[in-house]
Amino acid sequence: MSKTRILQVGPLTERFNQRIAREHDVTPLWQQADIPAFLAEQGASFEVVATSARAGCKVELIDALPNLKAICSFGVGADSIAVAEARQRGIQVSVTPDVLNDCVADLAIGLLIDTARQLPASDRFLREGKWLSGNYPLTRKVSGKNLGIVGLGRIGKDIAKRAAGFDMSIRYHNRRQDPESAYGYEADLLALARWADFLVLACPGGPATRHLIDAEVLAALGPQGIVVNISRGTVIDEAALVAALQSGALGGAGLDVFEAEPKVPEALFAMPNVALMPHIGSATEETRLAMENLVFDNIRAFIDNGEVLTPP
Ligand code: NAP
Repeated sequence: MSKTRILQVGPLTERFNQRIAREHDVTPLWQQADIPAFLAEQGASFEVVATSARAGCKVELIDALPNLKAICSFGVGADSIAVAEARQRGIQVSVTPDVLNDCVADLAIGLLIDTARQLPASDRFLREGKWLSGNYPLTRKVSGKNLGIVGLGRIGKDIAKRAAGFDMSIRYHNRRQDPESAYGYEADLLALARWADFLVLACPGGPATRHLIDAEVLAALGPQGIVVNISRGTVIDEAALVAALQSGALGGAGLDVFEAEPKVPEALFAMPNVALMPHIGSATEETRLAMENLVFDNIRAFIDNGEVLTPP
């Protein structure tokens, strides 16, 4: 029996690239000299796409693969994958949920403390020799504050669990109340922002959440308020965010994701009340290995049993 042909959209780690080549009949799309010509000639022979939240799988690629049956992605965000179109055509999609919750939740809390206590700026202050001429200015307390979580899902719940250890009061905003959650539900995002000292974003990206956090929400969070974003850059209106930080309408921002990453607005670079991370939420050795393994488990489950394990 011939092996299932897999099209890998973009490179992952060397370890992943080598393992997929060892275990499967895989073709790296990004290495093709003329991608449209390659797809026109061989597109019909692929049944599986291996991709990532970064490389995605747009509807144009699905169109070029008429016998595609499964898209297996590395990462939990499916906003770069044409999930609805795939489902319409009976194509299964898998992502890598849960195995990254700890690391992304850890980073959210880290960013919150970084921003409120201005850790990156105080580190720069010391390294630049400024401590020799005086103390660093006072910052804001973290423990015991009001934490609003936008998107109390798998990662959001792990953020809440950690925040409880800092004696924070926790409320959340989802589209629907979670009947299993004991945290206070706020149907009105603006009301949550007015109540919160800190607003942490852990919802998905994509058109439904684009600019959910706009100038009005940032103003409601206020001059002492801090927004932390580990979700997707598109969730915040970045121009409004920069303006709110410049005018003092917002107290601070801790950001792991950006609208046009890896491009980051340079206006943020010099602000002491801003902490900036290069999209490293899940980027630890342990978690990335677990994510890779889950991609392989999904591919194997699809090939052996016709069903992926972890759809979005
Ligand atoms: P999840 O379990 O599906 O949780 C998402 C939560 O967001 C749900 O509680 C959902 O509740 C809520 N939500 C969805 N649409 C919403 C909307 N329009 N307005 C308000 N709330 C909404 O997902 P997860 O596994 O926790 O992952 C969340 C996201 O984190 C991913 O999609 C990804 O973009 C991001 N992420 C980032 C990194 C990083 O490296 N920074 C790593 C992993 C994941 P309702 O359905 O009731 O609205």
